[in-house]
Amino acid sequence: MTDHSPFNSKRRLALPAALLLAIAVFALCAIQARRPEPFTVSFLDVGQGDAALISAGENQVLVDAGPDSSVLSGLGAAMPFFDRTIELAVLTHPHADHYTGFLAVLRRYRIRTMILPEYAAQSPDYRRLLEAVRDDGTAVTLLDCGEKAAVGGMTLHVLRPCRGHAQSADPNEESLVLRVSGPDGGTVLLTGDLPGASGEVEAAAAPGEWQAELLKVPHHGSRTGATAAFLKLVQPTAAVISVGKRNTYGHPSPAVLERLDSLGIRIWRTDRDGTVTAVWGPGGFRVSTTVKPPQTSAARLPFQHQSDNFRSSFAKERQ
Ligand SMILES: [Zn+2]
Repeated sequence: MTDHSPFNSKRRLALPAALLLAIAVFALCAIQARRPEPFTVSFLDVGQGDAALISAGENQVLVDAGPDSSVLSGLGAAMPFFDRTIELAVLTHPHADHYTGFLAVLRRYRIRTMILPEYAAQSPDYRRLLEAVRDDGTAVTLLDCGEKAAVGGMTLHVLRPCRGHAQSADPNEESLVLRVSGPDGGTVLLTGDLPGASGEVEAAAAPGEWQAELLKVPHHGSRTGATAAFLKLVQPTAAVISVGKRNTYGHPSPAVLERLDSLGIRIWRTDRDGTVTAVWGPGGFRVSTTVKPPQTSAARLPFQHQSDNFRSSFAKERQ
């Protein structure tokens, strides 16, 4: 008798339907997991600070995490919903606008390995971060200049600082600089808050190693960050300035914007463009932004990097 009750017939239908749905979701996840993903770099809109998510397939590298939990919305949008593991995190230097967001990241995601700077901050938040890293079982490593790390086909080359160097009292001077290359090409240079005076000397000492198609402009576009000599050594096609709206530092400096412009380097800014994402494919990379550019501005239409244009613009500059 009970078999014929409406309640049970609904259940008989509901169970296979739920099972089918579960199989469909599982299959979708499996397809998504197997689909090869291109080399992608997203400069997350975290206000006045830095956070860059670099990925290839299911492998993510997070370089800096911004000043607060605003990093989480950028990560949520950029990472697959089922992926709660960040393979590698890097802190360029211990300033709050670069590390505080890691406290929020660690509450939501597992970070497998973290590269920390040799230079440590004494603030309570930094101590809390070190405790959280230890409590989560995240492996901590220090990389020396010249060392490389490989994650999912991506290569991270640490260009500075070198272990055992005389430490500066200025944490910006201790910024770790990374050149990351994608599995099938594509290069991005991440510079933390590196002062340009140091950058141009060190880049000149290792010609070629600092060259990259896409540059994260040092120190939020500060006047002393990207010097003309530094930009000519890196030779980027495009540059991203990670900066907060109406910040009190006056970043980015008009002089830096002018320098980039005069060298024909295309500029994106997180304060105006929101999260800026570069995706590499055959022939170069394309940039998209979360804030849509005004329709009237022809200069801000979708951008495709072209190697030949890039070389000719620098060739002109050198003449
Ligand atoms: Zn900073």
